[in-house]
Amino acid sequence: MKRVITTLAVLLATALAAEAQEVKNIIYLIGDGMGLTSASMMQLENNYEPTIFDYADNVALQKTYSLDNRVTDSAASGTALASGHKTNNTMLGQLPDGTNTESLMELAAAKGKATGIVVTTYLQHATPGAFYAHVPARHEYATISEQLLASDIDIAIGGGMAFFEERYSNNEAARQAIAQSGFTLKESLDSEVCGERILALLADKEIENRRGYLAKATTEAINHLNSCENGFVLMVEGSLIDGMGHGNNAEGQQQEMRDFMEAIEVAVAYAREHADTLVVVTADHETGGLAIISGNADFTLSEQGVAYTWSTTGHSGVMVPIYLYGTGAELINGVMENADLGARLKALIE
Ligand SMILES: [Zn+2]
Repeated sequence: MKRVITTLAVLLATALAAEAQEVKNIIYLIGDGMGLTSASMMQLENNYEPTIFDYADNVALQKTYSLDNRVTDSAASGTALASGHKTNNTMLGQLPDGTNTESLMELAAAKGKATGIVVTTYLQHATPGAFYAHVPARHEYATISEQLLASDIDIAIGGGMAFFEERYSNNEAARQAIAQSGFTLKESLDSEVCGERILALLADKEIENRRGYLAKATTEAINHLNSCENGFVLMVEGSLIDGMGHGNNAEGQQQEMRDFMEAIEVAVAYAREHADTLVVVTADHETGGLAIISGNADFTLSEQGVAYTWSTTGHSGVMVPIYLYGTGAELINGVMENADLGARLKALIE
């Protein structure tokens, strides 16, 4: 615990040293299903010692509803966060009329920046897919797999081999298709050579033994992207916070949140050392309608007399927080649409 606090104190102390300048790198961390109550739960669980959320240089709020539903799914909200355009639930990288949207990563690649994706679920899932795929229905995994291979993404780390095998009939054919696309398929993470395109498929679907994985994969992705001169955009998803919300599992969500927060700490530490980097932490929506209410006082627990209760096994329609760190943090203010956040990030690298 002491070590963590010391690290966080350093992050705060050097925050003031960063001077206003152009945003060269964006690290965009999305907690799938992370509500303000998820962050509050972690503050409580940490006995109100500061968490990484408490060290944000700026905060804002975003409204998550989609074009056809007041409660969004991850495809519509991912599309909004990635492209700056709201769409209908289940649509990924497309407007309701079928027009493809342009994602932050597609724009970054067009501007000569390197791009990366790190997730704890499969890379064809809605949130990562929103950054490179364009399909009317988020479960078109065969098409999404093809679109990942055809994308300009420089490094992608997560699960998803099962969908490549499905699309290309078997493991060998999948490996061939991946090699032909220009990606190097890796089972471990060890590249720091700009221009080498890395696809690290570490599981068939979700990453299984994932304690410590997200921070490590985020570090590896940053090391790789940092070797590119024109800057980079990296999206890191704490993908399985959502699943714990669907399961109304507070303890499980705390664990997923801890993993996600470790990845945020890696990103913020990088931004503190590179005064041209903006770190944006947000969610696509809240899941579970988590509430923190008064419970039986048990002061042997850090929760100290609260109960975590859930109001749904689905998503909810509340606003979600945006935490900002580093260069440009002061530029993202107020209460906004989820699509505005995507649009404002695109404008920063336009
Ligand atoms: Zn969900």
